[in-house]
Amino acid sequence: MESGMISVDRWSAGSQAYFLTHLHADHTAGLSAAWRRGPLFCSRLTGKLLSCKFPGIDLSLLRIVDIGTWHSLSLTSPSSGSPTDFVFKAIDAQHCPGAVMYLFRGDFGCMLFTGDFRWETSSKGMENGRAVLLDALKNQTLDILHLDNTYCNPIFSFPSREVAARQVVDIITCHPDHEIVIAIDSLGKEDLLLYISQTLNIKIWVWPERLQFMHLLGFHQNFTTQTSLTRVRAIPRYSFSNETLEALNTLRPTIGIMPSGLPWALEASKGSGNIFGCSASGAKKKEDSRNTSSCSENSGTATRYNDYIFVVPYSDHSCYSEIQEFIELLRPVNIRGIVSSKKYCIDPHYYFDHLCGAEQALWRVQQKLEHEEGMDRAEVADIEPVAEGNSPVVGRKRKLDQIDFFGIRVSRVSLLRRLCRGAKIADTEPLS
Ligand SMILES: [Zn+2]
Repeated sequence: MESGMISVDRWSAGSQAYFLTHLHADHTAGLSAAWRRGPLFCSRLTGKLLSCKFPGIDLSLLRIVDIGTWHSLSLTSPSSGSPTDFVFKAIDAQHCPGAVMYLFRGDFGCMLFTGDFRWETSSKGMENGRAVLLDALKNQTLDILHLDNTYCNPIFSFPSREVAARQVVDIITCHPDHEIVIAIDSLGKEDLLLYISQTLNIKIWVWPERLQFMHLLGFHQNFTTQTSLTRVRAIPRYSFSNETLEALNTLRPTIGIMPSGLPWALEASKGSGNIFGCSASGAKKKEDSRNTSSCSENSGTATRYNDYIFVVPYSDHSCYSEIQEFIELLRPVNIRGIVSSKKYCIDPHYYFDHLCGAEQALWRVQQKLEHEEGMDRAEVADIEPVAEGNSPVVGRKRKLDQIDFFGIRVSRVSLLRRLCRGAKIADTEPLS
């Protein structure tokens, strides 16, 4: 797509339409209550929460995108001045309330922006998302996948949120005489908090602005701003630190829980490099000296970080194996990671290059052949030995059975054989 048409989670001047995937701060940098640059597309729930995050924002610029429905948009090509039409669809990203992916289709091809997403293979939400995505793509090639690559590294292996939520409840029940503080962002982890509230039959304290969000989401009955009503409090992530926990423990015994997909050492060293108030290497020495049973970097269990803090592998981003499944499903021609600022982030091509480009093309051809002709594999087996001879009949047959794909002539026979073997398109015959 030409630049100057649309922006997704980017808010600088120069685009004709702006798309917001979700309301986390790293996706809204540049967006404010004074927004005037153009129409702002978002999901219905994000639209509902938007004026709470940006009081006074001009709601006439909002364009609500219903999930799972094709929408059309006509913009103007900056280079030719001619109208450019395309369609787009929002798909639930299973990340935080209101979060969606956007699929765009037009003369420019097909692009998917995941925003932040969790592709949790055991969840019903993922099953729905899978069906919507495949239905939207049909046999069409996905040209570019803009991917949430936060955990695009095999060291990031963690369980489903359901499993991790049980670990949090276990920690709380194992500390019946402790106050509990849980680190959360201004949006997200609602399902975790609701699970704790419903399982333990307690309310959870949240700060006043967070209670406003809970009201808008319809969860307010499980939350309170009165500290006397509960021993479990959800506090802003930025105020969760080793110093905070030490100070709280001078008043009464308190345990801190950090829900995160990051291994504890990386969690401790991300951002300013010091969120727990001590360096990751220092913390590791402390952990080692205790000889406690900590999880390894890719373990799926909670880690006791120190006397006061547990890190639980509860994540609203996809882990490595989920990212892999997602790419295997879509087989994009190209992938671009949307996260590059964090030191542990890796270009998705490093691990998934073999699932892109030409490999993807072969896979798509296979789908198309099987769909259009109901390919009879027995017939293919008959053709195969003849195709290597010199008969003119065979030659005609061979010509008909060849497919021009990405400038490469591929025989259906060799194509299918190679697909079965997992061979690459580099093995095919160049066009003469
Ligand atoms: Zn996010």
